[in-house]
Amino acid sequence: MTNRAEAVVDLSAIKANVALLKAKAGVDLLAVVKADAYGHGLVPVAKAALDGGASWLGVALLEEAIALRKAGITAPILAWLVPPGSDFQSATDHEIDIAIASLKTLNEVATVKGAKRPRVHLEVDTGMSRGGFLGEWDQIDLQHIQGVEIVGIFSHFARADEPGQPQNLAQLNRFKKMVANLESAGYNNLIRHISNSAATLVDHPAAFDMVRTGIALYGLTPDLKSMGTSKSLGLKPVMTLRAKLHLVKDVPTGSPVGYGATDVTKSDTRLGLVAMGYADGIPRIAKNAGVFVDGKRAPIIGRVSMDQFVVDLGAASAAQSGDWVTVFGPGDSGEYTADEWGSASGSINYEIVTRIGPRVPRIYEL
Ligand SMILES: *Cc1c(COP(=O)(O)O)cnc(C)c1O
Repeated sequence: MTNRAEAVVDLSAIKANVALLKAKAGVDLLAVVKADAYGHGLVPVAKAALDGGASWLGVALLEEAIALRKAGITAPILAWLVPPGSDFQSATDHEIDIAIASLKTLNEVATVKGAKRPRVHLEVDTGMSRGGFLGEWDQIDLQHIQGVEIVGIFSHFARADEPGQPQNLAQLNRFKKMVANLESAGYNNLIRHISNSAATLVDHPAAFDMVRTGIALYGLTPDLKSMGTSKSLGLKPVMTLRAKLHLVKDVPTGSPVGYGATDVTKSDTRLGLVAMGYADGIPRIAKNAGVFVDGKRAPIIGRVSMDQFVVDLGAASAAQSGDWVTVFGPGDSGEYTADEWGSASGSINYEIVTRIGPRVPRIYEL
């Protein structure tokens, strides 16, 4: 069986990105592999990141962490979106570290029985108003936390991709204060971590004991406008998305294309039908994106459908039915990038790669 579309995942690029980020940070690196490694494939990416020098793995869900353990991965893993009522016993049995952000969860985790104590990282809200302890922080009896082993304290930046933004310094100072609270309660050798990719790329004093890098691991810029392209940051984009031209045909000028006839051909031209659609993660809203084929860019024409979209190849194109086209890639040959698809969709590269659907096989290159 041949694929009609595939996401080629360059695992050597993962390793190169880990090396670059580790050198920047100068501390341990936690590779963020949540959401199926941002759509790249959980287990192969996790293994490549560890091979490349990452010492920790980070995920959102407990299920993701358990999947890593079931794949035989023994490196430390932190899961940070584990709500009350979760199977904390399994987490403890599998030696998965859990982020705790409320008294309710802390008390629940503390009831786990057995020889091993649950390992937790206290998540603190330093100004993002998302995860982490805020008001309840002062209600934790820090001197007498029982039934759990506190191994870390962490927070998350809201605006690390805007270097110089005052909120970053405010968050950093708040973090230091909360760390000091814990230290004065006798917790000294905690792993302190707050930096995501953007902070790692720009803000060395925030590295503490470990950085948690996601997007940059995949070779993508945390923010195109404020931080520049992936390439300018020295990152190697990991995913190349390719698809087959299901059909190529010549149409006359004035032909309406696709649902709603939102576009009409402006001249006699050759159209290509790309065998991917919004069910595969191609944003229906995308404007000014397309594919690379026959040495040039062919823009989307008409609406993206569920399983297919049409590109304008141009009348002189030599492209034929069955040819492969590149939807996005590193950009070295002139193909569109995930950065560009993000901008073209009023979104970000994160969303582009993460939403490539399960119908698209991932092909791993070493
Ligand atoms: C997703 C996530 C990260 C990684 O962020 P990037 O911007 O992709 O580097 C780090 N920490 C937490 C808590 C996250 O949820």
